[in-house]
Amino acid sequence: MVSLVVPCFSEEETIDIFYTEVNKVCQDAPFTIEFVFVDDGSRDGTLKILRRLSREDDRVHYVSFSRNFGKEAALYAGLQHSKGEYVVTMDVDLQDPPYLLPEMYRIITTQECDCVAAFRESREGEPAVRSFFAKMFYWLINRISQTKIVEGARDYRFMKRKMVDAVLNDREYNRFSKGLYSWVGFETKWLSYPNIERSAGVTKWSFLKLFKYSVEGILAYSTVPLSFVSCLGLLFCFVAFLGLCVVVGRALIFGDPVAGWPSLVSIIVFLGGIQLLCLGIVGLYVSKIYLETKGRQIYIEKETDLDIRTNSDDACVE
Ligand code: UDP
Ligand code: MG
Repeated sequence: MVSLVVPCFSEEETIDIFYTEVNKVCQDAPFTIEFVFVDDGSRDGTLKILRRLSREDDRVHYVSFSRNFGKEAALYAGLQHSKGEYVVTMDVDLQDPPYLLPEMYRIITTQECDCVAAFRESREGEPAVRSFFAKMFYWLINRISQTKIVEGARDYRFMKRKMVDAVLNDREYNRFSKGLYSWVGFETKWLSYPNIERSAGVTKWSFLKLFKYSVEGILAYSTVPLSFVSCLGLLFCFVAFLGLCVVVGRALIFGDPVAGWPSLVSIIVFLGGIQLLCLGIVGLYVSKIYLETKGRQIYIEKETDLDIRTNSDDACVE
């Protein structure tokens, strides 16, 4: 059996389209499916649709959150509630095309791999600014982090149960699954496909939300910013020391009329700015430690038609 884990945040327009499309594709597939929809605190009729689907079709299950916890939390909850030997995570807006499912299944069952993941070969149809910043993010994180992230990789993955368990065993509060999938290792095969636009509705990721998400990724998988800050500090100490030598030397040799107030103020302001920036970077890491140590729940369930998978100690997260 293959479990399809599908996070939904105010997606009343897309769920039925998704459900029909997946059924069409999987009709004569050599596997059975179950749907695990996660309603991430939707503000529209999403939950009603999920209840109805679950009544009509016993392969459909859902988990509903008490509020919006974010896509990462929704994916985590979906994985926890999935029961299949294979698990697929995919978006509900058909941007992760269901027609790839049989091909992914064929690859995972015939080739030596634990996961088949999809990436977009282009970003056609996306605003240029968004693509530019996305490119910058992938460039940066792949340079400063040991954990490599494939550019254009989506959260569209066909995984074996052992990989899912590895991902679930990581109980981080600040989750960044693109990094996590790479961090847990296992053999991943990549499938590319052309970009597809949303079937209906609008994206829930504003530019600001994406920016925060990328900072999250960098903080979670790299400490290079901290080393950078230390190096910067060292460099400025060195420059200051040289400057001091020059000033003292010059005063001793030539005597020094007081001058240079504007340049002094500029230097002080500049250094003050650098110090605040560095403090801010350190602060970002401290805030992450703070959130981790609180050990908050990743999500809070309001309603479901499922029990959590009776696997070892997963239950204690609830
Ligand atoms: N999503 C979610 N919680 C959120 C934001 C998004 O569960 O807070 C879901 C959304 O319903 C969709 C998927 O994550 O199934 C991808 O979101 P979207 O299509 O809005 O993002 P984009 O494809 O534009 O990056
Ligand atoms: Mg989308």
